[in-house]
Amino acid sequence: MASNMYATECPQCGRSAIVDEYYKRGDRYLTCWRCGYCHTVENRAFHEKDGVGFEEEVCPGFGVFVWRGKKDGYQITMLGKFDEALEREYMEKFHEEGTDQETSYFVRYDEGRFKVLAGKPTENFHLPFDVYRDKMYKEYDCVTEFERYLVPIEE
Ligand SMILES: [Zn+2]
Repeated sequence: MASNMYATECPQCGRSAIVDEYYKRGDRYLTCWRCGYCHTVENRAFHEKDGVGFEEEVCPGFGVFVWRGKKDGYQITMLGKFDEALEREYMEKFHEEGTDQETSYFVRYDEGRFKVLAGKPTENFHLPFDVYRDKMYKEYDCVTEFERYLVPIEE
């Protein structure tokens, strides 16, 4: 099934989130790799027999844990909650021997604020969406309306 993937402004944190849009059936999945927010819209007719209408789901984000292994492996965990046990778990994982601490990071998002708990997020991570978007337009030479609609995705 054809879909468009592009970056858009995150409704929760205002930075760049990712949209996966299945334009023919109307499904749309927004996920934010900055704050962990997600918003799903699904056309039920395509997901179940006798399904009717659109179903919407919002999950507030409380941060992200981006893990990369020294040899290989890559995992993004979006946090739908945050507590001490989770913090301990991800801090331990970050400090494990197999973790590439140069490229892995752990960020908490709480009441409009980001707090980097471990590692160093990418430069793009910190940019408000409009700044990120203009940077991508330049970097990828986006000039046509369609190219500008599909804001490139970069971690
Ligand atoms: Zn966000």
